[in-house]
Amino acid sequence: MKDKLPIPRVLAQDGPFQRGFSIADMAAPVTKLNFWGVRGSTPTVDPATWRYGGNTPCLELEAPDGTQFILDCGTGLRMLGNRWVAPSGEKSQGTHILITHYHWDHIQGVPFFAPLYLPNNEFKFYSFRSKFLGRDSLKQVFEAQMAVPYFPVDMSVMSAKRKFQEVEGGESFTIGENKITTRWLNHPQGCLGFRIETPAGTVAYATDNEPGNAKLDESLRELAAGADIFINDAQFTAEQMETTRKGWGHSSWLEGVKAARQAGAKTLVLFHHDPDSTDRKLDSILRQARDEFDSVFAASEGMVITLGAPVQGAMITLTHLPQLQSELQVTMETPGTNGERRIQLKGYVVRIDDTNDKGRVSVGVVFTD
Ligand SMILES: [Zn+2]
Ligand SMILES: [Zn+2]
Repeated sequence: MKDKLPIPRVLAQDGPFQRGFSIADMAAPVTKLNFWGVRGSTPTVDPATWRYGGNTPCLELEAPDGTQFILDCGTGLRMLGNRWVAPSGEKSQGTHILITHYHWDHIQGVPFFAPLYLPNNEFKFYSFRSKFLGRDSLKQVFEAQMAVPYFPVDMSVMSAKRKFQEVEGGESFTIGENKITTRWLNHPQGCLGFRIETPAGTVAYATDNEPGNAKLDESLRELAAGADIFINDAQFTAEQMETTRKGWGHSSWLEGVKAARQAGAKTLVLFHHDPDSTDRKLDSILRQARDEFDSVFAASEGMVITLGAPVQGAMITLTHLPQLQSELQVTMETPGTNGERRIQLKGYVVRIDDTNDKGRVSVGVVFTD
C-alpha cells in the first residue's frame, strides 16, 4: 500500500489534536525498542523511584526481520524473561544478547532469566575479552555469579543452548538485515558501546561512559552519528561530574546533549539513572535537557519506542496539566474512503509547554503500543 495516507485527527481526553505528526507508509518496516531496566549501579525499590523504575539496565530491540537483540542483562531481564517468546518468522536470526561490560548491574539478571532453563531455547551472547579474566570472559562471569555459595544452583542446570562470541571495540558485523558496530567507551575495566542499524532506523546504546578522553569521546560520536535514538549514560549532574563523581566512569544529561548535537543524533535518551535520583529529580533533569535539545526522553521502565511506525507522536492540547512520563490514552480518528476509523493509542507524555493562554497546555506525546 503506497498511497499517501490522509492526515488523521487526534482526539485527546479534552481537546482536538494540534500539530506535529509523523506519517509514514503503513507497509514500512518497524523496529521496537523496549526498556526493561533503566537504573544504574544497583536496583532501587524506593517508592520515590517507581515512576522511572528501579531495575538495572536491560533493553530489547525487535528488528523488522524478526531478530531479537537484548542489550545488557540487568535485573530488568527477569521481567523480559517472564514474557519472552522465541523470535519467529522466516528471516529471524533468533536472539542475540549484547553485554556492554561485567559490572553487576549489567549481568545480575542472568540467573533469573527463565528462558535459559528451557532446553529448546537458544541464545547467542556477545562481549569482550577482559584482561582480568582472559578467554571466555563472559562465560566465566556468568559461571562465577552462580558459583557456590552465591546462588543455589550452578549454570549446568541452564539447559538452553548458549553460544558465546568475543567482540572488541571497532568491530562491525551483520546479523540478518541488521548491522552492529562496536566502540570502546571510557569506563573502569572497559565497556563497549553498540550501534544497531536496522532497516527501520538506527539505535546507539552508550551506557557507562565518562567523557574527557579525546579518543573515546570520538568513539562515542561515531556510535551516535545520525542515530535515530541515542541512549546515553546520564547518571550524574554536571556539578557532580566536575567534583565528587569525577573518575567514576559516568556522564550527565549535559554531556549527552553535547554529544547528540555534535553527532547529529535525532533523539537523546537519558539512561542509567543514579539510584539516588528520585522521580522528581529525574523530572527536573529531563526539563533542563529539554531546554537545550529538542528531542529528549528520560528512559523509564516499560517505555517502548517504535522506529518507522506510521504514527510516532503528536502535540496535543489539554486543559489540565499531566505529569511528565505519565501515560495518556488518545483516540485517533482516521478519515478514509470507506468512512472513519477510530484507533485507541497509548502514549507517554514527554513534553509539557504550559505557556498557552486560557489554561490550555500543549503536551507532547510519544505513542507506544
Ligand atoms: Zn552500569
Ligand atoms: Zn559499569
